[in-house]
Amino acid sequence: MSTTAKAYGTEAAEAPLNQLNITRRNPTPHDVEIEILFCGVCHSDLHVARNEWHSTIYPTVPGHEIVGKVVNVGGHVSKFKVGDIVGVGCMVDSCQECEYCKESMEQYCVNEMTQTYNSPDKHLGTHTFGGYSESVVVDEKFVLRIPENLDLAGTAPLLCAGITTYSPLRHWNVGPGQNVGVVGIGGLGHMGIKLAKAMGAHVIAFTTSESKFEEAKRLGADEVVLSKDADQMAAYKGKLHFILDAVSANHDVNTYLSLLRVDGSMVLVGVPEHPLSLASFNLVIGRRSLAGSAIGGIAETQEMLDFCGEHNITADIEMINIQDINEAYERLLKSDVKYRFVIDMASLKD
Ligand code: NAP
Ligand code: ZN
Repeated sequence: MSTTAKAYGTEAAEAPLNQLNITRRNPTPHDVEIEILFCGVCHSDLHVARNEWHSTIYPTVPGHEIVGKVVNVGGHVSKFKVGDIVGVGCMVDSCQECEYCKESMEQYCVNEMTQTYNSPDKHLGTHTFGGYSESVVVDEKFVLRIPENLDLAGTAPLLCAGITTYSPLRHWNVGPGQNVGVVGIGGLGHMGIKLAKAMGAHVIAFTTSESKFEEAKRLGADEVVLSKDADQMAAYKGKLHFILDAVSANHDVNTYLSLLRVDGSMVLVGVPEHPLSLASFNLVIGRRSLAGSAIGGIAETQEMLDFCGEHNITADIEMINIQDINEAYERLLKSDVKYRFVIDMASLKD
């Protein structure tokens, strides 16, 4: 049993996004039906809409930074009730049985998490559709509580950009006494600055955009480096304990590795289309590590939201209507957003 919902998506990599209808299942006993109020625009949405990761199933409806209101609950739902304000991030299901699911790391599920969009849909037999839509139906295990004090539109980006930066900062124990670099001050990077600062680190922002140079300090950076300037970069050689790289496009990671101290770690969260090139000496000299990290588990996502509630942290956003999404993608490609587009889903009713 299912219903039709209005959404925005695309039928092909070269085609713009436009309005289309999708199918949503009727809530099963463990499901929550959510009217979507706001949805953030992640660079992953663009990578997938344009098939840059060569795995897109069309038509695709992106969106995995969802905040909405519960409008219906299944008979066995215990965590939520009609009227609650809730969030949904990048995952809507996982096997719940493998070693990683049991350790609350559903994002690394051996049997593959079901992503909010572009994954096989176990219920309908089609594929999942994301948050550029009027509604979504999700198992309550994958639905998050939103702290009451946070602005809802600014909270939407926490569901991906927030957790994707929080998780590695926590995993690598970032905190006081450490110099932490954040590379690429977009949706993820600006959250990385805010979170690393709230965890007590000394934060150094690396940007290619002169227009973000002064502003990065307002976000919480203690120092800002224009990464195109070789002299500015050289001043940080061997100084950083940890680097979070949130760049969406291909770039040289080797210069950044040389900024790490002995035993320092650089963690990639950005996933550019093409492979990166690595000079081994940059790891060997200094016993440095290069690692990656994907979003975060559900328990950790709730922990991040509660941390943001406590520290009053939300994303800096530019609100758009869904009809502006194609222009927003073009601006995203030019690093021209401060720092996250969020779609006001009421515009889908227009
Ligand atoms: P975004 O808002 O577009 O930010 C990317 C930033 O990278 C830009 O603002 C810019 O920062 C910098 N940049 C862009 N092009 C560059 C270039 N050619 N050279 C150097 N720097 C460049 O993107 P986002 O939404 O934060 O996502 C960032 C990446 O993370 C994407 O690849 C996305 O798919 C990925 N992602 C991964 C996960 C995960 O689980 N690992 C989750 C979500 C997203 P400056 O202007 O400061 O230079
Ligand atoms: Zn994302």
